Amino acid sequence: LETKLPKVGTTIFSVMSQLALEHKAVNLGQGFPDFEPPEALREALARAMAEGKNQYAPGIGTAPLREQIALKTGRLYGRELDPAAEVTVTSGATEALFAAIAATVRAGEEVIVFDPAYDSYEPAIELQGARAVHIPLTLPDFAIDWQCVRDAVTPRTRMILVNSPHNPSGAVLSAADLDELAAVVRGTDIVVLSDEVYEHIVYDGAPHQSVLRHPELAARSIVVSSFGKTYHCTGWKVGYAVAPAALSAEFRKVHQYLTFCTFHPAQAAFAEFLASAPEHYLELPAFYQAKRDRFRALLAPSRLKLLDVPGGYFQLVDYSAISDKDDLAFSEWLVKEGGVAAIPLAPFYETPPGARLLRLCFAKSDATMEAAAERLCRL
Ligand code: PMP
Ligand code: GLN
Repeated sequence: LETKLPKVGTTIFSVMSQLALEHKAVNLGQGFPDFEPPEALREALARAMAEGKNQYAPGIGTAPLREQIALKTGRLYGRELDPAAEVTVTSGATEALFAAIAATVRAGEEVIVFDPAYDSYEPAIELQGARAVHIPLTLPDFAIDWQCVRDAVTPRTRMILVNSPHNPSGAVLSAADLDELAAVVRGTDIVVLSDEVYEHIVYDGAPHQSVLRHPELAARSIVVSSFGKTYHCTGWKVGYAVAPAALSAEFRKVHQYLTFCTFHPAQAAFAEFLASAPEHYLELPAFYQAKRDRFRALLAPSRLKLLDVPGGYFQLVDYSAISDKDDLAFSEWLVKEGGVAAIPLAPFYETPPGARLLRLCFAKSDATMEAAAERLCRL
């Protein structure tokens, strides 16, 4: 069989989680919390199942959940959404990203992505017969070089895919970046796909610059988020996509044949929890900022150099004082010999820059962070 995805193997997240298990390493690789979702949310899920919400949900998502998403979006970003036409619940952000690309990008077209780019973007683009045009973010702060973006736009450009807070770097877009993006797409029919799964994890008092705050961008954007990140339940796989009615209609054509609908009990639970505990996502920046600062303090005596973390729940570390191995080789050594699983950055690049950087997830309990730090400080 001739493969449709010649460059794709098993994702680095699966590879590293498996190696962590085999070598009994502390797993700071794949991004997931090692603590539980809020108790009230878990109880709501159990109740939804007990009360019989066990058959297909409406394809676009339950009305109460879409209403809560619209309420939250209006409150936070000042954009009033029509929950019937502009909000679609999906089986995780991964499904939403795939459906957004499949619904809008045609064979022969181009999608601009920024490297390091989350690994699910490019295969979704390639499966449409389209091409990802990779623009490297500039080190050390992983910023967008807007001149490079202007130079990369061609008549074939169908989409620009942005991700803020950014995985793996934690970089966040500024209001000025949104203005630059708006200037690039003005007068074109380029769609913006904005991956905002870490929207509630932005530090040091900074506001999350959602494209939904920017009316000109919101009018041509599909914005994707994930309850897995916000409510510590990555295994439930519930996310959503927000887009203007015409774009949402195209998005829903794909969604209805990709999954049709999303796990019904979880939708009931999220609708209830969002209505009864809206403060949860408002408290999330402080919750994760305490973890970030604790993790950084634990690593301070190590020979790792810690990069700044404006958002998300990953710490990038420069290990060049410890080893001159490349990041793939060093992360393999680290999980086998050093007892800590981390994620190398090379898999997220078309052309890796050769930086000696690893990604460590700090969505972890104190005990996990301490166990990892003890090992990392020995290197
Ligand atoms: N986008 C980014 C940037 C992510 O980090 C992740 C998951 N960690 C996803 C999308 C996928 O989210 P989900 O688990 O909801 O599919
Ligand atoms: N998004 C998670 C991460 O960045 C992993 C999700 C996955 O394993 N596909 O670690």
